[in-house]
Amino acid sequence: MHPSIDSPIYLDANATEILRPSARQAVLEGLDMEGNPSSVHYYGRQARQALETARKNIASYFQRDRESCVFTSGATEADALALHAFGFAEKRRILVGATEHDAILQSAPGAIKLPVNSQGLLDLDVLRQYLQDGVPSLVCIMAANNETGILSPLEDAARLCRDYGARLHIDAVQIIGRLALSLTAIESASLAISGHKFGGPKGVGALILAEDIPIAPLFTGGGQERGRRGGTPALANILGMAAALKESSQQNWEPIRNLRDKLELVIQEAGGESLNAGLARLPNTLSVVLPGVSAQTQLMMLDLAGYCVSAGSACSSGKVSSSHVLQAMGLGEKAGQAIRISLPWNIQPDAIESFGKAYRDMTQRLLKG
Ligand code: PLP
Repeated sequence: MHPSIDSPIYLDANATEILRPSARQAVLEGLDMEGNPSSVHYYGRQARQALETARKNIASYFQRDRESCVFTSGATEADALALHAFGFAEKRRILVGATEHDAILQSAPGAIKLPVNSQGLLDLDVLRQYLQDGVPSLVCIMAANNETGILSPLEDAARLCRDYGARLHIDAVQIIGRLALSLTAIESASLAISGHKFGGPKGVGALILAEDIPIAPLFTGGGQERGRRGGTPALANILGMAAALKESSQQNWEPIRNLRDKLELVIQEAGGESLNAGLARLPNTLSVVLPGVSAQTQLMMLDLAGYCVSAGSACSSGKVSSSHVLQAMGLGEKAGQAIRISLPWNIQPDAIESFGKAYRDMTQRLLKG
């Protein structure tokens, strides 16, 4: 397979997944529902029924009650709502992992940052030391890192939070649809999810609460979502998200994990250094440094060759700046030389083979100077 100029190969699924067919279909059906779910007439009831079925299906995936699912505009809003409700409104001290997404870091600028080791794993001893002082705390930890794919020690963190009476909020954005969460270990945590990260439409997400409780909303509006998030819900997007969750949770990711591992070997042979080989990580993610070559140069060369990858987090306005995640892992200048390759759910073996060749070509051209 060779990419063409107007049909490059997409390897940036952690920025946004490819839309799943069932999600597309569900969005189209949702767009055709004329009523507002808050209206009492026939069309309103029809929309309400579709909304509540989606809510029930999403909540039951997490083994929670239907009413514990609060729909939002995405994970940025879900994270902000959790910080607001359980942190600021309850006057809790906020502890966050140093490699959290900006959705958490920027919404809690005064938060205490918990360090990670060179593999990107949270230092649980530091977390314990903070929690031991008994200050009411909200702890925010991501399930899987968007840049490296590294999985957090969620079960241990959840146990610590339970032992010391802290609230736990999990940014589950990148893990959903790719790996199962151990739900019993995190039964009292809130979770942020985002539709477009598992093959649903962009602009929709949810905060999944531990139970059906009132929380301080970020905006009240018409009292929708049981007063927890005002505003008419994005019905079509919500239906698409529910469909994508179902479809993605049925996918076997082992073939993709194998393709990723194969590609990792090719890249290593070509001079790239994998940042997370052999670590517990998402099956689709590869984070590689090409020593001495800026991520920007690599992105441009690969883009010209017809491959879409990213450097650091691509969520922020097209900027290529050194990643706070890799800095927190102590990579120093290598942090600016790392690219992320994240395979979408429908990647094919020949695309990976062709990308491996393109990566080799790139390193050879760079060597020749
Ligand atoms: N949290 C993580 C870990 C993410 O990767 C992202 C997006 O990249 C977000 C939160 C924000 O999600 P959304 O695009 O739905 O606002």
